[in-house]
Amino acid sequence: MAIERTLSIIKPDAVAKNVIGQIVARFEGAGLKVAAAKLVHLSRAEAEQFYAVHAARPFFKDLVDFMVSGPVFIQVLEGEGAIQKNRDLMGATDPKKAAPGTIRADFAESIDANAVHGSDAPETAAVEVSFFFPGMNVYAR
Ligand code: ATP
Ligand code: MG
Repeated sequence: MAIERTLSIIKPDAVAKNVIGQIVARFEGAGLKVAAAKLVHLSRAEAEQFYAVHAARPFFKDLVDFMVSGPVFIQVLEGEGAIQKNRDLMGATDPKKAAPGTIRADFAESIDANAVHGSDAPETAAVEVSFFFPGMNVYAR
């Protein structure tokens, strides 16, 4: 499997709970490396642009409101099959449906406040990595 890079966001609920370190430890424990990271408070325009694919969905305003409600910790994760590995570590979007031991099962409260974001495919990883880390290539080599 190829070395990939993917975008991870630790969302405002998990940052507020003071569990950045516990979540990063899950990534590191699974063999992923932090290749870039920053703690930022997104503007509404940034959050709207980042989740533009969901602009027509009924939950879009709530999603944007939540993502700007406090600081987020944004990382580029790198490793073998990083995109799918990160999605597996995260668990299902709705924490009530997330498998035991996943990040969302252990740290998330609701489908709105669900602790983490992860890119879902190579194409979205490329767009999302360069959105938050301009000039950073999605390819590790
Ligand atoms: P993310 O993109 O944040 O990693 P995801 O890929 O698991 O999550 P998406 O379908 O991309 O899920 O939805 C983006 C976000 O929108 C979800 O994390 C969730 O907070 C919110 N969301 C998705 N579906 C619903 C829904 N049916 N009701 C409320 N909020 C939802
Ligand atoms: Mg998604």
